[in-house]
Amino acid sequence: MKKYNLPVILLNGIVLLPQNTLKLEFDSKNIANNVIDMATLFHDNYILVVSKYNSNNIPKIGVLSKIENNIVLPNGNTRIDIKGIRRVKIIEFLNLNKMEEPLESIVSELDVEKVENEPIIINKLIKEIKNYIKNVPYISNSIITIIEKESSLSKLTDIVVPALINKEKLLLYLNEISTIKRSEMLLKDIYLEKEMFQIERNLDMKIKKEMDETQKEFLLKEKIKLLKEELGEYSNKDAEIANLKQKIDKIDCPKKIKQRLNYELKRYENSLSSSPETNTIRDYIEWLLNLPWNVFTEDNKNLKNVRQNLDESHYGLEEVKQRIIEYLAVKQMSKNNNSPIICLVGPPGVGKTSLAFSIAKALNKNFVKISVNGIKDESEILGHRKTYIGASPGRIISSLKKAKSSNPLFLIDEIDKMSYDYKSDPASSLLCVLDSEQNKYFSDNYIEEDFDLSHVLFILTANYIENIPEPLKDRLEIIDISGYTEFEKLDIASKHLLPKIIEENGLNSNFINISNDVILKIIRNYTKEAGVRELKRQLDKIVRKIVTQIVVNNLKINKINVTSQVLEKYLGKEKYKFNYKDKSQVGVVNGLAYTTYGGDTLPIEVNYFKGKGNLILTGSLGEVMKESASIALSYLKSNYSFYNIDFNMFSNDIHIHVPEGAIKKDGPSAGVALTLAILSALTKIKIPNTIALTGEITLRGHVLAIGGLKEKAIGALRNGIKTIIIPDDNFKELAELPDEVKKNINFIKVKDFKTVYERIKNVE
Ligand code: ADP
Repeated sequence: MKKYNLPVILLNGIVLLPQNTLKLEFDSKNIANNVIDMATLFHDNYILVVSKYNSNNIPKIGVLSKIENNIVLPNGNTRIDIKGIRRVKIIEFLNLNKMEEPLESIVSELDVEKVENEPIIINKLIKEIKNYIKNVPYISNSIITIIEKESSLSKLTDIVVPALINKEKLLLYLNEISTIKRSEMLLKDIYLEKEMFQIERNLDMKIKKEMDETQKEFLLKEKIKLLKEELGEYSNKDAEIANLKQKIDKIDCPKKIKQRLNYELKRYENSLSSSPETNTIRDYIEWLLNLPWNVFTEDNKNLKNVRQNLDESHYGLEEVKQRIIEYLAVKQMSKNNNSPIICLVGPPGVGKTSLAFSIAKALNKNFVKISVNGIKDESEILGHRKTYIGASPGRIISSLKKAKSSNPLFLIDEIDKMSYDYKSDPASSLLCVLDSEQNKYFSDNYIEEDFDLSHVLFILTANYIENIPEPLKDRLEIIDISGYTEFEKLDIASKHLLPKIIEENGLNSNFINISNDVILKIIRNYTKEAGVRELKRQLDKIVRKIVTQIVVNNLKINKINVTSQVLEKYLGKEKYKFNYKDKSQVGVVNGLAYTTYGGDTLPIEVNYFKGKGNLILTGSLGEVMKESASIALSYLKSNYSFYNIDFNMFSNDIHIHVPEGAIKKDGPSAGVALTLAILSALTKIKIPNTIALTGEITLRGHVLAIGGLKEKAIGALRNGIKTIIIPDDNFKELAELPDEVKKNINFIKVKDFKTVYERIKNVE
């Protein structure tokens, strides 16, 4: 069977049968314009009309149709007439999930059914139709003149069905491809409708007698009810309508929303329970009813008390807490709502999420959280239009429903990990959500009505500042939370994490004693992280094992000491060797990296061998880092005599590798370390492995400033580094480093590589 492509018009709740004409009007923004354009330009005005009621089933039958009139009205709207031609089989929809694209389909023709005794059946049908029309006064008899000339049974059924049969059944007729079966259905339905009309007339007469004029409305309702009873269709729907009505009357919401609710309730009342659209309307009413329209919790305005709460829940973070309190103070004072949005930036496990939660608790705000990690479609944020299959509101509105108030603290996690493609830009939809100018009238595609987000306190988090989209970054007040030093971790563990974990397990907080030495051992030998998440997990494990022991063996003890000897019993073998280092080697130099996981050392290995002077780079290096390696090599080549390099060495192939190979690395800040590693390999000078270097290098050997010094330095200390060579321009940042880092690491500032060379000779 021949297959062909057709653009698709999707009708929700309307059915077009072949031989019938449908008039449609839509505004200039409607995606249907693109479909119509496609049909006129590429398909000779042919188009596929697909009618659906049930949002879960993808229709199998559509109507090949032709656009007959296509007029642009003075108000910019388009009006078209579509004439149905014949049923076709839908093989596939081509871009069902791409919301903003016109839908296309692949269809094939259906076999032509041979109808035996066709004229006899036509006669019988026309007779019954005439009889029916005679009995039912509200059906026009003009249709008779049309069908009397019709010689195709298939066409005849399609012409009369919309005129005679209840709308709710049209879809059944559309999906029935057999003409014979369709004629049988039609005959049956005509009998049924006739009978219905009789019942209705009798009821009318019966009720009319009993009720007077003023009870007209009541009468109509009674009539519907009795009709439903007669059809065996009386359901719980009426009780539900009454229930919804009560809720709508009670809900405190903007006037416009109440009007919409009443309008939707009317639609719900008028829809038949068998129609799938009924559920869609009902779901929508439920959504509107469950949003916290005028619900506000009362904020704790006492910022001193807020600060106290933050101190109790989180150790240290002095500057962070201070900035948050300042931010809240300004927000409280200023009338305009135009303050930037707080974004907490730092490696995993440093307390960004838990701090936001504590802020909510301290301010007496409800708390909700979403993660935008991997989100690439803006409809996940803004919702799907109701016309789409399985439509629902986006994450913002869904979370507000959960928040149960209009002024919660709303945490949006991992904004540096949103995905992008050429079609969708979720960051700009986030901007609409966050921007105080726009978010007063936030409109979700599904909800359609405005929801005021201006009372929401948004807080964002990210691991890596570089990955936050630029337009978003502009609107944010970035607050850095850097990784913790060993002693900070020790304090967090002993004063915050451990007592909390013990109490959560139903014990008195001094029931389990873990000395600082033992905690330090856990930090050094069982974790390797910038934050304290893994540390918390290890402490959790210990406490859980102790509790299990006590319960299983029914032990009667008052206190337990966890010593370093029993640590292995609870946590298994040590995972990391603290400060373990291979011997210093020629051609190996420590760079420093700043990653989403915090700072770390980045050993750079260089080898050379007989070759043609090629530079080989491995270890998933990005473009900028590869360029740094080329600059490093060129600089050494042009200054070979200063560094006592035998120029013949450059005829070797030089291989630079940066483990671990699977992790992507990029940026210019390894330039100085790369240069030193090549120099070390070529001149056999051994660089002590307690030294690390960070800095960009230029072709002239100048050393330029880098980012992330604080994280890098904390990471270096964790890895046992004693000396760090840093660019002169970064020197002023040393003041911000934790004391523990300043005390234990010797920082050497340099302006150019020659100074690196000079100073390195003196480092032990
Ligand atoms: P993030 O969101 O930065 O990845 P979390 O907020 O999930 O980190 O923190 C991980 C765990 O560490 C939480 O249990 C949190 O309470 C704890 N934690 C982190 N920093 C601190 C701190 N400064 N004081 C007390 N607990 C902390």
